[in-house]
Amino acid sequence: MMEPNKDIWVFGDYRNYFRNRVTLQILARATELAARTGGEVCAVVFGHQVDEFVSEYRAHGAGRVYVLDDPALKQYSIETYTFLMCRLVEEFKPETLLVGATQFGKEIAPRIAKKLGTGLTADCIDLAVDEQGRLVQTAPSFGGNLIARIITPNHWPQMAIIRPGTFQELPHDYDAQGEIVPLVLPRDLPADKIRCVTSEHRPSRKRKIEDADIVIAGGRGMGSKGKFKKLFELAELMQGEVGATRPVVYANWIGHDALVGQAGKHIKPKILFSFGISGAIQHTAAITNADFIVAVNKNPNATMMKMADVAIVADANQACLGIIRALKERIRV
Ligand SMILES: Cc1cc2nc3c(=O)[nH]c(=O)nc-3n(C[C@H](O)[C@H](O)[C@H](O)COP(=O)(O)OP(=O)(O)OC[C@H]3O[C@@H](n4cnc5c(N)ncnc54)[C@H](O)[C@@H]3O)c2cc1C
Repeated sequence: MMEPNKDIWVFGDYRNYFRNRVTLQILARATELAARTGGEVCAVVFGHQVDEFVSEYRAHGAGRVYVLDDPALKQYSIETYTFLMCRLVEEFKPETLLVGATQFGKEIAPRIAKKLGTGLTADCIDLAVDEQGRLVQTAPSFGGNLIARIITPNHWPQMAIIRPGTFQELPHDYDAQGEIVPLVLPRDLPADKIRCVTSEHRPSRKRKIEDADIVIAGGRGMGSKGKFKKLFELAELMQGEVGATRPVVYANWIGHDALVGQAGKHIKPKILFSFGISGAIQHTAAITNADFIVAVNKNPNATMMKMADVAIVADANQACLGIIRALKERIRV
């Protein structure tokens, strides 16, 4: 296979654009890396009527934007997008491909890496270039206990997924003159195995959990989806946000954007309430910046109870209902 060129590609993830600027943040760091390696920073955009995003990427550091704009791409399809990205990488041979750690990015990047037979570092918190011009991908590992620096010396592209908020986006450059490369949809697109029957727009949460001063987090110890719902009432009374552990998210008691932990959000509330949570490292690694923790658990020896400033040995539901009652009483007075 031919040697790659030095270009750094950034996957143009524009879903939730106004809330999540991770693509722009990656473009900024890619610009710094390219200054050392000598490559071009390129954004790659798929979709339909995507001019607005193409302009944004140019204005935020992309020296070239590859655009595949076609009505057939209006609806996101994991198979089609994976196929297209692999095809383009094989054709243009960028040395590096960077993807934001959005739900979308986390879904597509491993598929691309697998199909291209290359490595992928997930959840990077830094990117640098070593003496030989190789991409050094820094990521937490072993539940956040170690920070690993990873290189991909034998395969290409060098691929990494980067957490939102890791880098600062560049200021908007109104005079940016990046090249736009329109591409044509290949004729041999694979037939989709998945057909989207209907889609529903879920309005975004009022406030992001990672910015909340008060977080009410619930775990499996809440018992059921119905009981877990009480946490929303408590959060409403306290003007806080509800967070959750992975089993709770997997059980569909709450959406993925409430997941606190290694695979979800890092939070830094002034007060964190933790109901029925054991305190696994994958969860607690993301709450170390909480100022004050109140934990409720029927097991006094749970790790979460040992981490807490106030540990209440009680049934999580009963405690939650008790606090709700007390708050309502106070509001009435
Ligand atoms: C690669 C990987 C990534 C992961 N990423 C994450 C992540 O991002 N976030 C995350 O949260 N997890 C993550 N996990 C899962 C993690 O290891 C734990 O399994 C999970 O955090 C446990 O969730 P839990 O505390 O709700 O459940 P459990 O561990 O089952 O704990 C339930 C707790 O509730 C208590 N309890 C039970 N009944 C009651 C009651 N009636 N009243 C009061 N207390 C009660 C129990 O004593 C127990 O302490 C990850 C795992 C892996 C392998």
